[in-house]
Amino acid sequence: TDTLHILGGGMAGSEAAWQAASAGVRVVLHEMRPTVETFAHRTGDFAEMVCSNSFRSDDDEQNAVGLLHWEMRAANGLIMSMADRHSLPAGGALAVDRDAFSAGVTRAIKDHPLIETRYGEITELPKDGHWIVATGPLTSGALAESIRLETGADALAFFDAIAPIIYFDTIDMDTAWLQSRYDKGETEEERTAYINCPMTKPEYEAFIDALLAADKTEFHDGETAKYFDGCLPIEVMAERGRETLRHGPMKPIGLTNSHKPEEKAYAVVQLRRDNALGTLYNIVGFQTKMKYGAQTEVLRMIPGLQNASFARLGGIHRNTFINSPTLLDNQMRLKSRPNIRFAGQITGVEGYVESSAMGLLAGRMAAAEILGRDLPPPSYETAMGSLVNHITGGAEAKTFQPMNVNFGLFPPVEARGGRRGRKDRYKLYTDRAKEQFTAWLDAQPK
Ligand code: FAD
Repeated sequence: TDTLHILGGGMAGSEAAWQAASAGVRVVLHEMRPTVETFAHRTGDFAEMVCSNSFRSDDDEQNAVGLLHWEMRAANGLIMSMADRHSLPAGGALAVDRDAFSAGVTRAIKDHPLIETRYGEITELPKDGHWIVATGPLTSGALAESIRLETGADALAFFDAIAPIIYFDTIDMDTAWLQSRYDKGETEEERTAYINCPMTKPEYEAFIDALLAADKTEFHDGETAKYFDGCLPIEVMAERGRETLRHGPMKPIGLTNSHKPEEKAYAVVQLRRDNALGTLYNIVGFQTKMKYGAQTEVLRMIPGLQNASFARLGGIHRNTFINSPTLLDNQMRLKSRPNIRFAGQITGVEGYVESSAMGLLAGRMAAAEILGRDLPPPSYETAMGSLVNHITGGAEAKTFQPMNVNFGLFPPVEARGGRRGRKDRYKLYTDRAKEQFTAWLDAQPK
């Protein structure tokens, strides 16, 4: 009963096992590979990197993912210590020798006296005991079905269809305006819930041309089956006909440009608030498989977005994830079955680093619970805290899609001292985060 079971020996599961065992808790780590394989993994090692070998920026003063590296290092993170040990030269990024990295994680886990490893697929959500489910974007079918039965069909997704997300303060509001279609809504806030970007006919035609010409990523085998039901990529819509978008997500009806009330827009791109803070907006209906470089170029053709800075770009992938904002409490526990925590990419974060960070947190929280201690999440002024706050409550549940760490998830720093340049601002975010994260660590028993 005092044992913590962890389901999935990926980025999150390995880190969670390490953290809980380091706190003195006995851990059983369950992993289906190499007995059962996924389409992306190649080995039976823990924490295999399935695609790129990069942990992205290592700049802990100017970059949110670099800050997350810093926080994980400060918290004795296994994933970071192995990444550091096996790093490769890559400019400001942290790239690693992937095989040496996973071999290192696997050895550390196997050598830990409090961790036992068991191989084989687990096909049902366990009923009793302390569990962390960290089975990732490629959670096996049987287990996914069991999660779906527990959480409800709408609460489990098999694909992400991510529309690009933009920092509000980089949108040109002299061109764009706030209005909900047909001014719908009971309150002023609801009537102005959307940001609208107008297009003339020549601007629309040029946009469609660019969309059709842009570089796109190909789909994996079997990837298209499910998503085509509801959320076509914009470039596929454009291929179906030049007017399709103008009758779909870019329709101009029910909207009046407050800057130029007499001019009827030929098409309108709408953005919707993406977080409670109002610092992030997503482009409505703009899921896309355009390559990242092409995407920025094409999207900046939208009037109002000419200087847009992107918190994350769009994409469509095979990805199993739950609707964490409705399902999880702030201890990352399933509200309906609090003996089960979720961690890693299945909670709706995205990427090796973010997934490991959520494993670190879940491992510490589960260990604290087993040891009879309280462990509140870190302040949402930290990278780890802002991410867990986003998935367990800050994000809009209805449109919830996987998220990378970014400064838009942090409470703005301007409030403390007027407008500043971007570099100064990012430094304020990271200084504040380090102070808060250190305080969080210091409050825990060593
Ligand atoms: P994983 O690392 O996938 O670990 C989950 C583990 O659970 C796996 O080992 C799996 O075998 C096991 N498992 C699943 N179901 C069961 C079961 N029923 N019983 C027992 N074990 C089970 N991120 C990046 O940062 N950069 C990239 O370039 C990148 N490219 C990607 C490309 C693809 C094709 C995919 C699918 C993902 C990519 N990601 C990338 C995302 C990255 O893989 C994840 O963010 C990260 O691995 C998630 O960590 P995790 O621990 O949540 O899941």
